[in-house]
Formats: sequence, C-alpha cells, structure tokens
Amino acid sequence: MNRFLSDLGKVLVIGGCGTVGSLIARVLKANDVDVSILDSASDSYLKDVFKRENIPIEFNHNLAENSLDGFNSIFLAPSLLNNSNFINKLNSINHNNLAIYSVEDLLRNTNPNKYVYGISGTNGKTTTTHILKNIFKINNYTVPEHELNLQGNTEFIPSLQARLTGDIAVLEIGTFGNKGEIKLSASNSKVNTGVITNITRDHLVNGTFNDYISCKKEMMEVPDNLVLDGDDYLLNYLSAEFNKDIYFFGVKDFNNPLFNDSSSSTEDELCPVCGEKLNYAKRYLGHLGEYSCSCGFKNPNLDAYGTNIKLSSKNNMPIIQYELHIKDESGIVTLSNGALSNVYNSIAAALAAHLKGLSIEEIIKGINSFTIVKGRLELIHTKPNIIIDFAHNPSGVKSIMDTILHIKGDSKLIILNTISSESGLEGDIEIAKLLSGGDIVIPVSDIARKSAKYIDAKVINIKEDINFKKTGTIGSSPNQVKSAIELGLDIASEDDIILIIGEGGNKYSKDILNKLNI
Ligand code: ZN
Repeated sequence: MNRFLSDLGKVLVIGGCGTVGSLIARVLKANDVDVSILDSASDSYLKDVFKRENIPIEFNHNLAENSLDGFNSIFLAPSLLNNSNFINKLNSINHNNLAIYSVEDLLRNTNPNKYVYGISGTNGKTTTTHILKNIFKINNYTVPEHELNLQGNTEFIPSLQARLTGDIAVLEIGTFGNKGEIKLSASNSKVNTGVITNITRDHLVNGTFNDYISCKKEMMEVPDNLVLDGDDYLLNYLSAEFNKDIYFFGVKDFNNPLFNDSSSSTEDELCPVCGEKLNYAKRYLGHLGEYSCSCGFKNPNLDAYGTNIKLSSKNNMPIIQYELHIKDESGIVTLSNGALSNVYNSIAAALAAHLKGLSIEEIIKGINSFTIVKGRLELIHTKPNIIIDFAHNPSGVKSIMDTILHIKGDSKLIILNTISSESGLEGDIEIAKLLSGGDIVIPVSDIARKSAKYIDAKVINIKEDINFKKTGTIGSSPNQVKSAIELGLDIASEDDIILIIGEGGNKYSKDILNKLNI
C-alpha cells in the first residue's frame, strides 16, 4: 500500500451507489482500504456487488451531525462535488476537518498494478472486449468488471475498472468525439496494449473526419504496443507515425465467394499517402480488404489472420468457422451466433491474447466458448426467430445483412428498422438501401420512414406515433416498436426471420414480447 492509501485510514464514500462513486469505493477496497458507503438512495442494483466485496453500505442516508463519526477521510462522487448545498452541509458537520478527496485524487495516487488492454475503434469494440475477456477467463485469469448497467466505456469508468481486483484488465474505451477524451482515458488507465478494431466514417456528429481521426489517433499515443486491423487502410497509414511495436491482424481469403463485394473505391477511399484512388482487389467488410495504390501503399504483413471462412446456419441462426493463423501456428475457430464482422473481432482478440503468451489452443478454447454479447445478433424468440441487433450505422448494418442473407435460405426476412443513424440522413439512406435485401421492411423510427423510398423491397408502414419526440440516440418510441413487432408477427410464418435493428428495438423488444405474452 502506498503512502496516500495508508494515510487515508477509515474512508467514507458519499454517493457510493452512483456510477463513479461505486467504483471509487470498490477501487479503495481492492487496495485494502477500510471503506464504507453512504448514499441517499433507497436501494441499488449494485447491492450484491458491494456485499460480495465486503463494502458496508447505508441507504437512505442524509447527512446528520454524527455521519462522519469514526471516519478519517472522505471521498465524494463527482455529482456531489458540484452540489454547493451538499458541500455547505458537509462542511458544517465536518468538525474534525477530515480530508475530502475526489476521483482525480484516487486516479493520481493509484495504479492498475496489472497488465492493461484498451480496446477502441468504430465497430466491434464491445464484442472484441468480450471475446478477449472470455479468452482470459476460460484460462483461469480474473478480469475486473465495472458491473454497471451501462456501456461504461467513457470518462472515468475504464480507468477505475483497471484498478479493480483482477489479473489482467480488458477495457473498452469509447468516446463522445471530444478532443483529448480517449487520450485521458488511455493514460489514466495506463494501457499497455491498445487494440483498435477499425475506423470508419460513420461516427461523425460534430466536426470533420480529420477531427475524428485525430481523436482515434489518441488511442495510439499512449500504449506501449498496438494491435491494429491491417485491412483498414487508415489504421495502417496512421500506424507509421508511431515508433512502437505494432502488430497487425486481418483476413486472407482472396478466393472465398462469401466476399463478392467488388465495388470499386468510393470518392472517400483515397490513398492516404498520395491522394490517388485506392485499388481494392478484395473487400471483406466495408472498407476492410486488400487494397493497394500505384505509389506502393498496400496491406501490411499480418501477424494473425483468418482463412477459409465458412458461414452456415443452425436453426436459422448463423455459425461461422474459419482457420486462425498466428505466426506459424493455426487452428479451427467456430463462432456460434455471430455476424461476419466477428471474424475480425475474434482475430483481434486472438492476437492480443497471443501477445500475453497464451497458446493458440488456449486462445481458440476462449473464442469457441464465447457465446454472445447481449443485443448483438441476439435471438430473443423462436418460431418465428426474432433477432435483435444494435447495428446503428451503415457498416454495422452491412455486416448483419451479409450474414443473415447468406443463411436465410427460403425463409422470409422481415426487417424492423428502428435506427436513427448517427451520421444523419445520408447514413439513413445508405442503411435503407442495404435493407433492400430483405423481403419486407417495416420502417419504425421517423427517420427510417423518411428514407424508406430508397428501399428496393416491399415496405409496410406502421401507424405514426404523433406524440413521439426523439431524444438522444433512440429513434423510436416503445409504441412504435410494439406496433411494428405486432405487424411483423402477423406477416411472419414459423420458419421466417424477424430482424429488429437499432437502439430502440434493442431496448424495448424483450419487454414488448413479454407483455404480448408470446
Ligand atoms: Zn498512393
């Protein structure tokens, strides 16, 4: 225990049921500090976590004269630090002038004390994080979990998660698109290996693509070494700026008929070295593929790659097999219930685990035993199959459509589109075009309805929900999703597939099915 920690004595965390508060308490406990929680809330879904980690908690507590009795120092949740009424009250009862600390104090004075992976990128970072965690867990390593009921990949969460009890930290690091954000997360988390899945143009809300790229580059600055998708020309190009160990993964399946997207490069796909249009000999997924330019820019040598990718189906759900190669070794991977993009995600995780010395057998055992991430091609009903997927941008939708269309056979594919794309109307139109592969499309979100004229398939509309006002990223109301599911079930026969894409569908569909009692 370092000086800062040993001087704390008995610590009271006030507001310890909140997102950051709970992690402050758990990190202190993981560092053998005697810690208790006070919170004004009446209950918390984290109750069992605190119990398991022996952190006493007092609910329904509003500060009283004796609240601080017996404690030597105080940590405050960030929300309380900015609440002047609360601070005044705290000061009025802090008769012994106990030191008051913030999350920043904790981060400055502690370290993860373990190897740390930071996983970032546009698509696939959540799945890659889960697969890498599973590889370690199945091989008897413990990995810290934040246990929060939210994604938890931004601000202080990854850095605190890294400091929880465990052998190896596997952190998903996301961004709201603000400058400096990822760099701060990565440096506070002391990331050793940075894994970047891919960079696409989809996540553009504010600012230019270059702003977005520089945001992603931040993830490359901090770690000692990097695991990057070599089939992503942008990552390949950006890696040259950094003088550190770089490991590339990708796919080498040139003759595979599964990948028949022969579209030439778009206006945007220019060689980052000379500005000429890139040549694509093969596209595997969106802009991921085998590219080259007359100036000599091309795919790097791959340290890990997949070959012989096969997609089959069992009970109308996809199963993917491929041969995984790491250095001179190889083995067969089987992914149950995943989209083709999981080939890339699992190879990224495999290469990352290999760097820590795991054998290819241990790695494949971890990938094969990985089931699903909730909301990623998740089967929530059978006869007919109802599948929900969180896809919310064109490349996410493309991966899902490529996968389902390949396995659907004679089944009708009925798609409920609840997406309100992050890249604006242009993204929604691109998504609408991709949905043309379905037999019937039911536009659910208001935006999906507006872009429905671009769908080259039968479109059936639900009644508009005139009371719905879009907030945040959720583009559909519970009522809209309910009408769409009822409509879909009316049309579908037992062998058909109902695919619900987007955040609204992901959030509401399970409850709706429960209420419909089917
Ligand atoms: Zn070039």
